[in-house]
Formats: sequence, structure tokens, C-alpha cells
Amino acid sequence: MRPVFANSAWVAAPERLILRKGRWQQRWLQVRYGLFIHPKAGPTLIDTGYTSHSLNTSSRTLALRSYAGILAPRLVVQEQAGPFLTQFGLTAVDISRVIVTHFHADHVSGLAAFPNARFIASGAAWAQVQGNSALQNLRHGVFAELIPGDFGTRLDMVEECASQKIAHLPDGYDIFGDGSVLAVPLPGHAHGHFGLLFGQLEMPFLYATDTQWIGEALLPGGRPRLFPRLISDSFPEVARSSEQVAAFQKAGGEVLLCHDTAPSQFDFAQGAEL
Ligand SMILES: [Zn+2]
Repeated sequence: MRPVFANSAWVAAPERLILRKGRWQQRWLQVRYGLFIHPKAGPTLIDTGYTSHSLNTSSRTLALRSYAGILAPRLVVQEQAGPFLTQFGLTAVDISRVIVTHFHADHVSGLAAFPNARFIASGAAWAQVQGNSALQNLRHGVFAELIPGDFGTRLDMVEECASQKIAHLPDGYDIFGDGSVLAVPLPGHAHGHFGLLFGQLEMPFLYATDTQWIGEALLPGGRPRLFPRLISDSFPEVARSSEQVAAFQKAGGEVLLCHDTAPSQFDFAQGAEL
């Protein structure tokens, strides 16, 4: 069981913000989301990426309009969920699970499009989203309007899964109870933020989500300071999680980040199989 990742959109950011001593020139980042088919649980998405729902719908709040206006993501139409799922003979109603690694807009904006899915997310992160005021959520890059109203009743919390030890990384939560996919806490970027370890592949593969924006920034000399200090849930935890992911990589594990510009063998290509 392999995951495959689509690129929902391109977003430009000055490299200096996401890479220590990087250039001030814009760097175009991907906004990935993933798909795999678990033998028992069925078609499962890893986040949703950006969708036209979050960027173009006229009923959006002013806050969401402003956010979309400032970041100005360029949607990749052919890799939106509809055409992407079609490549595998699937449609939105076939999706049985959506794993929500954290609640930032570029990870949850398509949740409403999957009416039959249960959501797998951090209960602690969900509690914080619910407890925060709209302004506090905004400060954390969370827009409650993107989260379906029945999210809580469709939620399975990762913290309730059995935990499992992993070399170099914090203990993971065994999402399906078979060791195939572990939710690995990688705190710092957002409250309850986690990655996903596919430890039963030929080479263990960690989708480290937003631990950093690009691979070069996982290494100590590449870690940006100012930008993460401004927008992260916890800057010291960003550093610790980056160290752990870098150690996993150094030991031979494969790592992919949501926004990394380097191509990955897990990126979608025509003819890809799951
Ligand atoms: Zn994020």
C-alpha cells in the first residue's frame, strides 16, 4: 500500500522566509495532499489541499477572502480531487477516511466535499479549534467555515489509537491497528500537528507534512528563524520536530514535506498505481 500525492496548488513565498540565509526571490511551493487505499478501510485521503471552495466561493468571510488574496494560491485544476480521484476510478463519495494532519486552511479546505468520510485527526487540536475564538483561530491560520459542521461526530481521534515505538521519532499512533500507517506527533508548526509513517514499505516513508516548508530547512543550518517564530504554534518544538525528522532521514528513511519543491517518487504521475 503506497500513497500518492497530488499538487492542489502553487503558492509563492520569498525563499528567505522558509530557508535560513535563502534568497529574497519568490520560490514556488507545492500544496500536496495524498491518497492511498487501505485494504480494509478503503480509499483514504491525507488532507485535501487547496480547493476552489476556499478560494473562490462568494459566501466566504472577509477574513478568508483576505487570506486567499494575500497568499494568492494558483490552483492546479487537473490535480484537484475530482480529476485526481478519477485517475484511480474513484469519486468523492468513495472516500471513506480523510486524515487531517492539522487544521490549516490548505489542509482542510476540501473536507466538505467528502460526505461519506470519517475524519482522523488529533483530538487535542480539534479541542483547541473549538475552544478558540474566531480571532484566535485566525491567528493560527484556521478558518472554522472550512470545517464541516458535523466534523465532531465524524471524528476518530488519533490519540485513541494504540501507540507504537519508532526509531528516531516520537511514538506513533497506529491508525488502522495493523502497523501500516502511524500518525507521528511532530508538534511545533500547529497544535497537534502530525506526520504519517508508512513503515512497511521497502524503505520507511515519512510524510512529515509541514514540519518545515522545504527539505533543506530540516537541517540545522537551513532552519529559518523569523517566520516560524511569527506563525508557529511553538518555535522550540519546530526545531525539535525538525531534528527528529532529519535524524530519521539520515538513518535511511524517506521524507516528504507538503510544500517541498523537490520532486518525489510519491508524487502523482500519469499511469500511477496505488
Ligand atoms: Zn500548516
